Amino acid sequence: MTTRRQFMVSVPAAAAAFALADQLVLDVGRARAQQIDPLQGHFHIKGKAPSKFTLDVLKQAKATLPFADKRDFEEQKKGLIAPMKDLKIMADAGHVAWDMERFQFLEAQEEFDSIHPSLLRQSVLNNNYGLYEVIPGIYQVRGFDLSDISFVRGKTGWIVFDPLVTAEVVRAAWKLFQEHVGEGLPVSAVIYSHTHADHWGGVRAIVDEADVRSGKIPVIAPIDFMDFTISENVFAGNAMNRRLFYQYGLLLPASPHGYVGQGLGQAVSAGAVGLIAPNRYVKEAIEEIEVDGVPMIFQYTPNTEAPREMNTYIPRMKALWMAENVIASLHNIYTLRGAQVRDPLNWSKYISEALYRFGLEAEVMFASHHWPRWGNERIQEVLRGQRDLYAHMNNQVLHLANQGVTINQIHNVYKLPEGLQDKWFCRGYHGSPEHNSRGVIQRYLGFWDCNPTTLIPLSPSDSAPLYVEMMGGAEKILARGRELHDEGQYLLASEIVNKLVQAEPQNQVAKDLLADIFEQIGYQQENPGLRNSFLAAAYELRTGIPQGETADSSGPDVIRAMSTELFLNFLGIRMDSRKAEGMRFTINLITPDNGEKFLVELENATLTNIKGFLANKPDLTLTINRSDLEQTMMGAKTLEAQIADGTAKVDGDAGILTQLASIMVDFDPRFEIMPGTKARGTEVASYPGYVESGIKGKADPYEAVPRQTIAE
Ligand SMILES: [Zn+2]
Repeated sequence: MTTRRQFMVSVPAAAAAFALADQLVLDVGRARAQQIDPLQGHFHIKGKAPSKFTLDVLKQAKATLPFADKRDFEEQKKGLIAPMKDLKIMADAGHVAWDMERFQFLEAQEEFDSIHPSLLRQSVLNNNYGLYEVIPGIYQVRGFDLSDISFVRGKTGWIVFDPLVTAEVVRAAWKLFQEHVGEGLPVSAVIYSHTHADHWGGVRAIVDEADVRSGKIPVIAPIDFMDFTISENVFAGNAMNRRLFYQYGLLLPASPHGYVGQGLGQAVSAGAVGLIAPNRYVKEAIEEIEVDGVPMIFQYTPNTEAPREMNTYIPRMKALWMAENVIASLHNIYTLRGAQVRDPLNWSKYISEALYRFGLEAEVMFASHHWPRWGNERIQEVLRGQRDLYAHMNNQVLHLANQGVTINQIHNVYKLPEGLQDKWFCRGYHGSPEHNSRGVIQRYLGFWDCNPTTLIPLSPSDSAPLYVEMMGGAEKILARGRELHDEGQYLLASEIVNKLVQAEPQNQVAKDLLADIFEQIGYQQENPGLRNSFLAAAYELRTGIPQGETADSSGPDVIRAMSTELFLNFLGIRMDSRKAEGMRFTINLITPDNGEKFLVELENATLTNIKGFLANKPDLTLTINRSDLEQTMMGAKTLEAQIADGTAKVDGDAGILTQLASIMVDFDPRFEIMPGTKARGTEVASYPGYVESGIKGKADPYEAVPRQTIAE
């Protein structure tokens, strides 16, 4: 089965080739029409060099940022036991799961004229790749994935904190660890600090599920871990997956003009994602648990960086594990791939609590991303800085909002105080002050700036033609857009050229100019999510969305983590309501093995369900064990087949299931974002924004299809 990850991993090289071949044939004349010459050595034939304005922005940053503070570099390399020799880790499926080779260019030069010096610094720091001692008894393998895996010595073996995203990289990390310090001892416990996939996906490489089920190996996680592991990413999952192409620059090759890392780490590994349900949950605000002979204090921190998260303090070692609540960056309050806006005040308060409970005596602090901090003074500096970072963002943004600054202005008004701007660990390598400040307003006040013009506005493509007409047509806009571009007024230029692209999606000259504008804005960004988003849009405007094999659905473990209710809720989202007009039926769904029952109803072109209820006179009763239903949810066996062989029992009109199946839609993560970039050969359904792919067979209509779990 080709996973989504494989598709994505295979894309950059193919896409670059596609770009070259395709553009040479189709658009070379238009490329020449541009005033700016393509850049030799750029991965894209239409790619441009940074302008003098961009160079000035980067030079200015270099001059004002605290480059004299080199403590991160000392901390990042401290305790190195062994670097990893193989730069590539292969996936069991045969492709490359992890590739550090592609980031080696970052070390080749002191600076790049197309990379913000602060982002370059962070990416060089993230090029660490090997086994490190944190203190005797605590080790980390870093640079094998977006996240770090940590090993704490227990009485009988190793307690593993946060086993990365995929099994292949965890296996490689475990091997390296065992070669040097593991003493051949087994894994004795696992701790998942929180619900995001980069903190549990590789667990199957080091633990046998039977040992977890029997209780031999404790797997400890915050309460409701399973409910939140994938629920955050299911309902809008396809849209999030598409948006990852922007935030994570999935189509951009690693290069000075493309992808240069993700701030949290270099990238996300592309192997097999697995999940073993925890057998011990932390639910009190503070809980002490002896884990393999090591007393640990767990601080439960819900609704911070993740819906469910916890920090851990090991008093005997004076070691504080801050999960992903404190890292070497400003984190996302609002995450660009899309997520509910996080609560910065709550987050800050939990950091404050960690400071006063543990941070006054801790001698080492480590986390699931980046490198540790040693010495109590340094720990306090980082904890206090991070506490204030999130509190300031909450308070000052609301201070300004209370004086009338709107969601459409705040990113131009809000500034971090100088004391925080000067701390490397407060800079925006994941969240940016710009998109986070907008997120805070979104959290409290929502999208509307209170100007009625923006209350029920026309869709961009509907209003754009009038702008183009009033501005005197395409040629005038292009001329003025080029002027603004040439003056370095990129945001103004993007305003008007975007209008033209919205009005004329097939105007490649306009799309190319907008791409050139976006590219300069992208080069100027310190934040990798912002950089990638501008460069990704430039890429798609120049090349279109590449054709490629689309994704299959998620692995069995992830599906098992999905409750039946979540699955039924998601069926309601997958159903195309416009095709359900006039349909009406009631289904009783009974899953005897777990004792659940659901009343599922289609009425008013809306599919609803209610747990714990059954209809008196249902049109259909479907009885199937939850464990068998999972086969259908995974796409391994159709519901039809389950009924045919008697695994599922139906009583009533089974034709209802066929009817329901006929109105289910299989979402495709390649829908168009920028106008006129749709993959060739796909068909657009009758409404905007939806691309129905004709490339691959449809998923089973009753498949759960949450796609991949999303890291971070
Ligand atoms: Zn993470």
